[in-house]
Amino acid sequence: MSGCVFCKIAAGEIPAKIIKKGDGILAFADLNPQAPTHLLIIPTIHIGSLNDAKDPQLLGTLLAFARDLAKEQKLDTRGYRVVVNTNPDGGQTVFHLHLHLLGGRPMEWPPG
Ligand code: AMP
Ligand code: ZN
Repeated sequence: MSGCVFCKIAAGEIPAKIIKKGDGILAFADLNPQAPTHLLIIPTIHIGSLNDAKDPQLLGTLLAFARDLAKEQKLDTRGYRVVVNTNPDGGQTVFHLHLHLLGGRPMEWPPG
């Protein structure tokens, strides 16, 4: 989708620190990290938000990809958080579906 920053990253049109590639999935470093490890996992096709994700298999694949990436980043034993912010009250600012993988420090609950 033209104008979508994450579509542009997926197309290689703007730079990002790519961490892992999968079949229709990409993980890259967040530009403004909120934890020692803060990665974003996206489908390479444009899906605006979790509300727009029609394919439950894709959602499962994204979650498993995040889990595998957490293990590769050696976050699995101590733990990590996977977050999907959705629409304004959820804190979504980029309207291309993405999972945040956060780790490397204890997380607080409840989230802000
Ligand atoms: P959200 O608020 O859940 O929509 O998260 C959007 C995330 O994308 C934020 O954590 C931003 O720091 C991150 N972000 C925005 N633009 C870029 C970019 N060009 N490269 C990497 N991360 C980005
Ligand atoms: Zn997009």
